[in-house]
Amino acid sequence: MNNKMEYDVKGHLHQILDTLPQGVRLVAISKYHPQEYIEAAYAEGQRVFGESHEQELRQKHEALPSDIEWHFIGHLQTNKVKYIVPYVSMIESVDSMKLMKEINRQAEKCGRTVNILLELHIAEESTKYGLTPEACRQLLEDGEWREMQHVRICGLMMMASFVDDREQIRREMQTAANLFDELKAKYFANDDAFCERSWGMSDDYQIAVETGSTMVRIGTSIFGPRVY
Ligand SMILES: *Cc1c(COP(=O)(O)O)cnc(C)c1O
Repeated sequence: MNNKMEYDVKGHLHQILDTLPQGVRLVAISKYHPQEYIEAAYAEGQRVFGESHEQELRQKHEALPSDIEWHFIGHLQTNKVKYIVPYVSMIESVDSMKLMKEINRQAEKCGRTVNILLELHIAEESTKYGLTPEACRQLLEDGEWREMQHVRICGLMMMASFVDDREQIRREMQTAANLFDELKAKYFANDDAFCERSWGMSDDYQIAVETGSTMVRIGTSIFGPRVY
């Protein structure tokens, strides 16, 4: 570990962990942060980390301990799927049938079943990726996913709008929570794997916990501001 580390990853990590209720897991979002920061969190027992770029993930995966569970959280191009499928623990950002099919195809090749989340677009910003609630319902109604033996749909992921209005953030997360309940009842009632609600980031994770998040994705509050 790097003694010259200028940022108190350990202290910030424990501040977050101390506030999370049981049943809410932390995905430490390490994108753009150096390996020493990940090692510092790892030394404190953190094992789940999230990255949003395939190349950066690959480099960190190769350099860091093999029991880290890597979550992919960024926009994923189908031609990059083959590079992450052999080792990734969860792909949280699946927003099309085309992408799901490619994950299934590549996972079959390496004899794996890959955990995925369906990424929702509920925020008002037009720049965010994801399925609208209607598109998400349609994707599941189509039923093609039932034939994909190498993809396991574990729940939903979303990002709330980047706004100061806490009530708007709460409404958006509640919309995701309601959709989760609807889909769970309709398609996954007997499937224990469909249980994850991934929402909540540094600025809004308390609201996320209040609206039933099972997985918060926190970067800045643990590792400090990102240097792009
Ligand atoms: C970067 C990122 C996060 C973490 O955001 P912070 O504000 O740094 O906590 C969470 N989710 C996604 C999808 C991200 O891209």
